[in-house]
Amino acid sequence: MALDTVMPNLHLECPHCDHSHGDPLEVLQHTQEDDMRCESCGRTFTFAIVECPQCETDNIRTWAQGSPRPEDMRCCECHHALEACEEE
Ligand SMILES: [Zn+2]
Ligand SMILES: [Zn+2]
Repeated sequence: MALDTVMPNLHLECPHCDHSHGDPLEVLQHTQEDDMRCESCGRTFTFAIVECPQCETDNIRTWAQGSPRPEDMRCCECHHALEACEEE
């Protein structure tokens, strides 16, 4: 597997304006879930890596403040429902 084809489905899109942010992997090396500020509209959103429980594809999901909507938590490959981040 070539390095530049690893996880091609990983990209960060602002849930407010759909602006696409390059190179999320740099951020994601440090954390599985974090807040980020959109460089386009300036608003903040949360992103997380969620592994599909069915096909084990890594999905990046972004959402505005609060909890992700269930319709946002679908695997991009098989559309299986992803496990939302647990809130403690
Ligand atoms: Zn934005
Ligand atoms: Zn899946």
